[in-house]
Formats: sequence, structure tokens, C-alpha cells
Amino acid sequence: MRALRPVPDVSESLYLFGTMVEIEIHGAEAAKARAAIAAVDAHLEKLHHDWHAWRPGELESLNAAIAAGESFTVDAPMAAVLAQGKALSCASDGLFDPAIGALVEAWGFHADTLPEGDPPSGGEIARLVAAHPRMTDLKIAGQEVRSTNPAVQLDLGAYAKGAALDLAEADLRAAGITDAVLNAGGGVQVMGSHGARPWRVAIRDPFAWGVVAALELRPGEALHTSGNYERYLDAGGVRFSHILDPRTGRPVTDIVSVSVLAQNGALADAAATALSVAGLADWPRIAAGMGVENVLMITGEGKMVATPAMRARLTPVGDDFPAPI
Ligand code: ADP
Ligand code: MG
Ligand code: MG
Repeated sequence: MRALRPVPDVSESLYLFGTMVEIEIHGAEAAKARAAIAAVDAHLEKLHHDWHAWRPGELESLNAAIAAGESFTVDAPMAAVLAQGKALSCASDGLFDPAIGALVEAWGFHADTLPEGDPPSGGEIARLVAAHPRMTDLKIAGQEVRSTNPAVQLDLGAYAKGAALDLAEADLRAAGITDAVLNAGGGVQVMGSHGARPWRVAIRDPFAWGVVAALELRPGEALHTSGNYERYLDAGGVRFSHILDPRTGRPVTDIVSVSVLAQNGALADAAATALSVAGLADWPRIAAGMGVENVLMITGEGKMVATPAMRARLTPVGDDFPAPI
């Protein structure tokens, strides 16, 4: 009798959502795995186009309609992701708020490249903040969307990647894939296992080339890390984070990286953004509001803070290990 040979992993790197997305599939025939990856590729390509706030496409058209005070009919996936964004924004007490696109643009964080030049003036920031664009202004009735505030400009950048990975996971499942890991620059989620072994992932060191900790993801879990080390504005000797506080219109300062482990990508991604805004003083309240229990934060001074639940999951890499809160 011949020994059963294990099916080799199939992995592919795709350039999607402005980042490298790696999909690794375990335990499936190569042809089936490749077909599943091709389906994810096409789907995410479409979502990136439709959800892009700053290039011609569905979201850009919706933003134009909102600015003109008109309602707009979106497709069903767009209506769903907007409703999800609105719910997550409410849960975050408005610290995660995809309606602040005008502020994102003023800071230059809308472009696919790193922004250059000066930060917006205090006057411009004050004007954009005073217009008070909020997801609560967005009224979604079926596929009919309008805003009670024309200052709302939607930018889904703070949760689109997580939401897209959730949909990619559903695509893989529909294609009969049971064991896979999807990794998209800062966001990683897993299905099943790697043979008998769980999928193991690392959290990047925001200050140096390396990692601070590793952990094993359980089936269905998503880990998202938001940081100011990939997208930022350098001006006048200051590095400005691309995460903005909707209340002040200014970039967050005290937190360098936030990792959130949650049951889906959209929640993990949105919460990582919201907790960055909440900062050291307020993040436990926002985490509780969003129902998030596993959090690791790294401050500008390199201090690591983790919830007890997260701490229990982390394996230290190097000398530093998160102090208990
Ligand atoms: P990362 O890209 O590191 O994962 P985020 O998920 O936090 O970071 O996404 C940051 C992007 O989200 C910004 O580039 C901007 O487009 C948008 N954004 C910035 N601040 C907020 C906020 N408070 N709420 C919602 N979206 C935001
Ligand atoms: Mg993100
Ligand atoms: Mg985010």
C-alpha cells in the first residue's frame, strides 16, 4: 500500500487594495485551490474599484451625490458595507468614522502614494471639523443611500481591507476550501488549520524591522494591526499618522500601533483604528463598546499594553513583552 502523500500548500501573492495580499491554502488539490484564489482575486479587484473613494467608481459617484444633496442607489454589497460601517462607527462612539473623507483628503491621505507638503491650515481643519460629518448622517434604506449632511464624504480605508477579507473568506468557503490564511498588509485572517497545526502569525515591531510577538490564530479569527509606520505625512520634522481624530481633525499622536484580534476582519480593522484614536486614556471604554477583548497597543515611547486575554495569547519574540494592564 502506498502512503498517502500530503497535498502541498498552494500560495499566491496578489496585488490588491493597494497592498500585497497573500493567500495560502492548505489541504486542497492545486487546481481547486488556484481556481478559488482566482475567484477571490477578481472579487477583491472589483471591490477595490467600487469602494475607492478617490477614483471614478461607485463610491466616488455616491460621494458626488451626497455633496449635491441627492440620494443615490448603490449595489447590494455597497449597501451592506456602508450599513456595517455605520454600525461599527456607532459602536466606536464615532472615533472610527468613515464619513470624514474631506479631512482625509485635506491631509493628503487619500492618495495611493505618501503625502507630501504642508499639513492643512488650522483654519481649514476647523472648518472641516465644524461641518461635523458623521456616519449617523447617512440614511440607508435598502439600496437607497442619502446623507442629511452634505459634508459627509465616505472613505472606507479604515475597514475596507478587513471587510474585503471577510468576503474573500466567504468566497473560499463557497469554493470548498476549508483551511486557508489570508494576509493583507496589517490584516490577517484564517480558516481551519494548517494540518494539525494552527496558523501562526506575527505582530510587527513598529520601530524596527522585525516582530514583537507571535500568536496562533483560531479558525475564523482575524487580526488587524493599524500603525503609523506605513502611511504618514512627514512635514517640518514631524511625522503625522494617517489616522485622524474626527473630533479634532488632527492625526493621533500617542499610539504607534494597535493590534486587535476579533471574530471578523471588518470589526478588527475598524476597532484598530478606533482604539488608535481613543488613545491610552480612553481605549478600554471604546474596546468594551465594540465588544473587543483582545488588544495590543504600542505607544510612541515603545510601551506595550495588552488586555489580559490578548497577553495570554501572545508568545514573546525578543526581550520586550507586553506589560499587563
Ligand atoms: P491601516 O492602513 O494602518 O490599517 P487604518 O485601518 O486605521 O490604518 O486606516 C486608516 C485610513 O482610514 C486612513 O488612511 C484614512 O483613509 C481613514 N481614516 C483615518 N482616520 C479615520 C477615522 N478616525 N475613522 C475612519 N477612517 C479613518
Ligand atoms: Mg486598515
Ligand atoms: Mg483600521
